[in-house]
Amino acid sequence: MSPTASSPSTLRAEVRSFLADARDGAAFVPRCDAWMSCFDPDFSRSVAERGWIGMTWPREYGGGEHSERDRLIVVEELLAAGAPVAAHWFADRQIGPSLLRNGTPEQRARYLPQVTAGTWFFAIGMSEPDSGSDLASIRTTARRGGGGWVVNGTKVWTSHAHRAHFMLALVRTSPLDPQRRHAGMSQLLIDLTIPGVNIRPITTLDGQQHFSEVVLTDVEVGDDALLGAEGRGWQQVTAELANERSGPERYLSNLPLLAALAARGDVPTAALGELVAELESLRALSATVADALGRGESPSVAAALVKDLGSRFERKVVDTARRLAPTALDADSPDEYTRLLTEAVLHGPDVTLRGGTSEILRGIVGRELTRQ
Ligand SMILES: Cc1cc2nc3c(=O)[nH]c(=O)nc-3n(C[C@H](O)[C@H](O)[C@H](O)COP(=O)(O)OP(=O)(O)OC[C@H]3O[C@@H](n4cnc5c(N)ncnc54)[C@H](O)[C@@H]3O)c2cc1C
Repeated sequence: MSPTASSPSTLRAEVRSFLADARDGAAFVPRCDAWMSCFDPDFSRSVAERGWIGMTWPREYGGGEHSERDRLIVVEELLAAGAPVAAHWFADRQIGPSLLRNGTPEQRARYLPQVTAGTWFFAIGMSEPDSGSDLASIRTTARRGGGGWVVNGTKVWTSHAHRAHFMLALVRTSPLDPQRRHAGMSQLLIDLTIPGVNIRPITTLDGQQHFSEVVLTDVEVGDDALLGAEGRGWQQVTAELANERSGPERYLSNLPLLAALAARGDVPTAALGELVAELESLRALSATVADALGRGESPSVAAALVKDLGSRFERKVVDTARRLAPTALDADSPDEYTRLLTEAVLHGPDVTLRGGTSEILRGIVGRELTRQ
């Protein structure tokens, strides 16, 4: 597979020009946390038309065979612009790569071209009502039956499940063995429109509905719903989480706010410089993780660091803005800075939870360091 040749600066300029046209044409308004919150199928399709979904994937599935660095350029620009990319984000970032690593040729041929075309969207079904950090305690089960699997259980905080077409669910396919808690789990691709799937959106602090509770009652799926090997679910989700945690969304979610803060002209340049210097260090770290992913590695420790440091940076942008340019919060304000600050504050509690809490990430890093 040879990467498609295009200079990084040309690609970055192309993405910026696309985004400027979209903003001018009122296709979107920049938002903080847009990759998580702003689900816009039309916008995702316009990104797909440019070949920017599944960029690194093989051409036979609609990918562009670009390098991970090229992909990083595109996702950085989409995030920096606060563009509404949530619809395709999860499949592009982790479910597509997992299908490429673990899927059968039939599964890849079925799902990936629809993802790269921006027509099928996926949700991530890991967390459950009593299983977040301790993911091995999940209770959703899949038992052999009905010519495939019969699934029962509840997933929660499942981002955009009420809008997505499929969910990649982590389920127990063998009973919990307390001595081997990470064994006996598998991943299933579940069509969210089939009988037995009941999805209830959950309203968040900002009054929006970003995630859902997904109740699965005797949901029957075929053998072809199993992704990868039966019993290898834990290893597969661990690799997926490296893709999830290492990306630039961890430090660019609030870039629209940082840009609006700088544009005010009344904030000391030293404070802005401090934030930008930190941002550049995070970018460098994230780029090394992109290179490792490009080599087919699963850099879980570096990914945990990017996520933990990135979350702290997100908080620092908000704290700096509130300290140096305080304003009464108002989500409907015509003033862009006020609106963006309000969005960032309302999403503040999410940042250190989603994708793994800070305590858990520091545990991953600490364990690895003590092993060396
Ligand atoms: C906006 C948002 C979107 C999300 N989207 C998805 C999604 O699409 N799919 C999905 O599967 N999940 C999703 N989640 C769920 C997310 O992954 C979980 O919230 C997260 O893993 C934490 O789990 P929990 O909420 O059960 O908290 P808990 O695990 O109960 O943790 C509560 C607190 O206890 C601390 N804690 C727990 N265990 C330990 C320990 N061993 N040592 C030290 N401290 C500990 C945690 O750090 C945390 O501070 C989303 C969450 C948010 C906020």
